[in-house]
Amino acid sequence: MKPFIYSRAHQVPDAIRRLAVADRPVPIAGGTNLLDLMKERVVLPTRLLDINGLPLDEIRDLDDGGLRLGALSRNEDTADHPLVKARYPLLAKAILSGASVQIRNMATNGGNLMQRTRCPYFYDVNMPCNKRTPGSGCGALHGYNRMHAILGTSGECIATHPSDMCVALAALEAVVIVLGPEGERRIPFDQFHRLPGDTPQFDNTLSVDELIVAIDLPPKGYAGHYSYLKVRDRRSYAFALVSAAVGIELTDGVITRARIALGGVAHKPWRDPEAEASLVGHAPGDDAFENAASLLLRGAQGCGFNDFKIELSRRVIRRALDEACSSSLTPA
Ligand code: SF4
Repeated sequence: MKPFIYSRAHQVPDAIRRLAVADRPVPIAGGTNLLDLMKERVVLPTRLLDINGLPLDEIRDLDDGGLRLGALSRNEDTADHPLVKARYPLLAKAILSGASVQIRNMATNGGNLMQRTRCPYFYDVNMPCNKRTPGSGCGALHGYNRMHAILGTSGECIATHPSDMCVALAALEAVVIVLGPEGERRIPFDQFHRLPGDTPQFDNTLSVDELIVAIDLPPKGYAGHYSYLKVRDRRSYAFALVSAAVGIELTDGVITRARIALGGVAHKPWRDPEAEASLVGHAPGDDAFENAASLLLRGAQGCGFNDFKIELSRRVIRRALDEACSSSLTPA
């Protein structure tokens, strides 16, 4: 590991001030991804700013009926919080399907959003990777790409975002609250992560001088009808091949609102408002689910080893929709 200068911040304004300078440090909280990247020499920060002492770990009600998740609340504490379990069981279930208890006890909510792809070529500094070294090429495009994206890819990068939590946050239409020198910015969740395009080195729309301080959940939590379905190579401690977060509202047996987000298939949690709208006004059933799946997977394209993800995604969407519509108050 390359030597670096370590310091701590105890107040948010102090942290923002330190991130505003040209020779800015990289914030570190749980470190469950950043330390791996440093040990593998994928990123080589000269300064680290430990933000664990900032007062950003509360989980509290919002006036509009929603819930605020502090950026520094640990993933396990968030999933285990009574208000999250009661009102947003979809989020609790998604968090608990990721990583291991030990990692979730360290990993923070803000850090979960900031984690990097697990593309093996990104972690191998001897391989070409446009995300790590822009312009060097993409080792995965014609390499072993079984875990890679089928939607929203570019000729520069076919990486996926690895988070489970973020898939649920996308379906819940959370808002990311960030602070920077210009003050507060509220970023709708589907605008936080980005597609690779021709600048795959940028995973998200956070500026280098901004800090995530909270994630706001809207009042609708879909606690009555939801599903988080994750298909992976092992039952635990594995990233998703494909996952689906679904929230449904049903009135008299008819779908009145639907939210679907996919994980493991794109550079960001994947949603399609047309697919969601297609379900409204229909009774749950195979035809409606198949139609929604077809819309969500429009343009899906494999790169060889990951071709199987297209059919797998279709089945995961249909099953998650069926689970959400037929279940009521499924425990997280
Ligand atoms: Fe790098 Fe993206 Fe290609 Fe992986 S898919 S090697 S992260 S450019």
